[in-house]
Amino acid sequence: MAWRSCCRLGSPLWGGPGWRRAWGRRSVASCIDPSVGLTEEQKEFQKVAFDFAAKEMAPHMAEWDEKEIFPVDTMRKAAQLGFGGIYVRPEVGGSGLSRLDTSIIFEALSTGCVSTTAYISIHNMCAWMIDTFGTEELRRRFCPPLCSMEKLASYCLTEPGSGSDAASLLTSAKRKGDAYILNGSKAFISGGGDADVYVVMVRTGGPGPKGISCLVLEKGTPGLSFGKKEKKVGWNSQPTRAVIFEDCAVPVANRLGEEGQGFNIAMKGLNGGRINIASCSLGAAHASVLLARDHLNVRKQFGELLANNQYLQFRLAEMATSLVAARLMVRNAARALQEGREDAVALCSMAKLFATDECFTICNQALQMHGGYGYLKDYAVQQFVRDIRVHQILEGTNEVMRMIVARNLLEA
Ligand SMILES: Cc1cc2nc3c(=O)[nH]c(=O)nc-3n(C[C@H](O)[C@H](O)[C@H](O)COP(=O)(O)OP(=O)(O)OC[C@H]3O[C@@H](n4cnc5c(N)ncnc54)[C@H](O)[C@@H]3O)c2cc1C
Repeated sequence: MAWRSCCRLGSPLWGGPGWRRAWGRRSVASCIDPSVGLTEEQKEFQKVAFDFAAKEMAPHMAEWDEKEIFPVDTMRKAAQLGFGGIYVRPEVGGSGLSRLDTSIIFEALSTGCVSTTAYISIHNMCAWMIDTFGTEELRRRFCPPLCSMEKLASYCLTEPGSGSDAASLLTSAKRKGDAYILNGSKAFISGGGDADVYVVMVRTGGPGPKGISCLVLEKGTPGLSFGKKEKKVGWNSQPTRAVIFEDCAVPVANRLGEEGQGFNIAMKGLNGGRINIASCSLGAAHASVLLARDHLNVRKQFGELLANNQYLQFRLAEMATSLVAARLMVRNAARALQEGREDAVALCSMAKLFATDECFTICNQALQMHGGYGYLKDYAVQQFVRDIRVHQILEGTNEVMRMIVARNLLEA
């Protein structure tokens, strides 16, 4: 095959049989093999997720990005495999898997499309919040259609005036009889406008985190509206919009947890969310290392394959080393969260900081190895770079991750 077509989106090597062959069926065991150390069961669902990524996502990821298509049907197919409520309890339709299992699945899925997988991860986080903190009635009403992705969910914390300082949020919820009346707006909401269910952090009390509560509301509630769809650098297969509340009445019965517990619930959701987003970065980096390897193996300059150049060999080795280090950190944090360890919050923050920074560098270096071709939209590597850039910003910026880790160290 001509070198130029090797790593092109839509080429036989991208999402096709050749692409699938690239995942570990070579004569020598790959040092970046993501199945190393997993149980047989974990290897099984990892394979299911890789196959789904290769067959159902990778062939479309460029088109979804270019045309800004939100692939709801594909996500529902993923939900049929149990990926709509991975760590939600089975009695309400979830898969009941662990945080580590979840990380393995999101890493594999994101090799086929980071943006779509990242939305599925936010949706999973919302479903888990309802399952964990909702009343029996809320769990039974919302979780089954969320787990099947018949209904889609959004997580609403950020506001125009409160990003990193999330506890300063202003959206007010004033009690009136059996309802809260909401006024205010949320910014940058993933799935906003298209999602059916909104998990919203609102102010029911005084200033600071203790005055915040968490409510669940449905699209179609009078007084709920949406801003224009944002134009973004990446994450284009999912919409991002402002969510606006104008005298929007939400039943008190739709509250997760007690009044004043909302900030705590929001942060608990994000601990897992950070592992999930970091896992999406791992998948992008894994795919990018393979794309770079394949490119070096076919592109010739100065009469030699690039693969024979020691500088490029060293860079490829560094990329592989960072990828494996990041994966170990993410999986370690996932285990800590699963076990409810005291250091879990800091470990999740460390993993998100390290993995999203390192994986961005890996993808960017893979683009560099493609030369000018890496900058063309025909080649998948640029989409991985664009899609994972935002992982350093959202679910708590990487500066906020440093604050959480430092606080843990200084207080311990
Ligand atoms: C594509 C996209 C999707 C998103 N999806 C969602 C969603 O679904 N739900 C949701 O609630 N939010 C969502 N967000 C919002 C995201 O979580 C915020 O953008 C993020 O938390 C940062 O807030 P901000 O943009 O207001 O930046 P700011 O808080 O204004 O920060 C600006 C810069 O200053 C730095 N900074 C701020 N304070 C400090 C400090 N004390 N010390 C050092 N540095 C500091 C920050 O790290 C950052 O680099 C999304 C954002 C994007 C871009």
